[in-house]
Amino acid sequence: MKIKITSKLPNVGTSIFTVMSKMAYEYDAINLSQGFPDFNCPDELIELVHYYQKKGFNQYAPMQGVLSLRSEISKKIEKLHGSFYNPETEITITAGATQALFTAISCIVNKGDEVIVFEPAYDSYVPVIQANGGKPVFVPLNKDDYSIDWVLTKKSITAKTKLIIINSPHNPTGSVIGLNDIRELEKLIKGKNIFIISDEVYEHITFDGYEHISLSRSDILTNRSFIISSFGKTYHTTGWKMGYCAAPELLMREFQKLHQFVVFSANTPTQYAYAEFLKIESHYLDLGNFYMQKRDYFVSKIQKSKFKIKSCKGTYFQLLDYSNFSKLNDKKFAEYLTKEVGVAVIPLSPFYRKPYNEKIIRVCFAKREEILKSAAKLLNKL
Ligand code: PMP
Ligand code: GLN
Repeated sequence: MKIKITSKLPNVGTSIFTVMSKMAYEYDAINLSQGFPDFNCPDELIELVHYYQKKGFNQYAPMQGVLSLRSEISKKIEKLHGSFYNPETEITITAGATQALFTAISCIVNKGDEVIVFEPAYDSYVPVIQANGGKPVFVPLNKDDYSIDWVLTKKSITAKTKLIIINSPHNPTGSVIGLNDIRELEKLIKGKNIFIISDEVYEHITFDGYEHISLSRSDILTNRSFIISSFGKTYHTTGWKMGYCAAPELLMREFQKLHQFVVFSANTPTQYAYAEFLKIESHYLDLGNFYMQKRDYFVSKIQKSKFKIKSCKGTYFQLLDYSNFSKLNDKKFAEYLTKEVGVAVIPLSPFYRKPYNEKIIRVCFAKREEILKSAAKLLNKL
């Protein structure tokens, strides 16, 4: 008998981040594609992990995560956004934000439920919605500045809408939400059984005086939101795959029912290390400036290139418009840049469902200055 598998995700292939990083490696191109820093995390953090490993903290962490880490996260959220999450019952440490997103979406979305997804959208939301039998309802972000169109969002809400996914600072566009968006969202969900997932992994990376507005700032939204973040972005440790989810107890109880069978618990010594490292506020409070310098450095180096440089208010991604000098579609253009020019980038079309004709690519500027300089030199030749 020939065995047959019925795919839950028949239309999903390999992620664009894997494809482009692999191409960068094969063609020895400077890799500005997949989002990760090319510099190391602080030595003290590595020493802390090592310390806890040597001390024997090498067995399973509690299912919810190490309590000292949950307490530090709770303190940080309260200090920055003024809302209290009980570390005993309302915070879970996850294996990266990816797992937190998977778990939160899975515990809310049932067959036939509709989920509002703003486009362009980070690649992990839609497959999880679909694997749970849900239906993504795409709402395009405004064309000029990638802000949320609340009139269109309201029109897209139906009796089946169960969840709205917000991502700010936004990957791939670098847009950020403001207090007005919080007010609009509050009005939108009033009297409705709609939940919210807020993907805030770039929470500490905002520029030019823009402040990160966490959904946890709103009592109305907090009640029905899963706030998700990642230590990978904040501590230059994307490979350690650790993040967290904060949500009110009612939601967190459901989240943990699934979490315990997805991963049970996350890496133990790393959790102890982060718990201590979180006490040094300057690292995350200075992160915006750290990355703003990189953005400004890179932008200054390509100022005279043919690219139109889009606005970037947060994240470590910069969008570049090449419409005035190439007719190639974005995937072909990204391939050309990687193979022929020597700089790997990310096309934007994989962040959209429908055929996408804009000529925009994304570059990651979380790189050392000399790398940004070399990449800029190659891009300037175009
Ligand atoms: N959400 C967004 C918007 C991201 O850009 C990323 C990845 N970089 C993630 C979630 C996943 O984070 P993690 O690496 O902690 O799984
Ligand atoms: N979030 C990263 C990016 O946007 C990639 C993470 C991944 O490869 N899954 O580039």
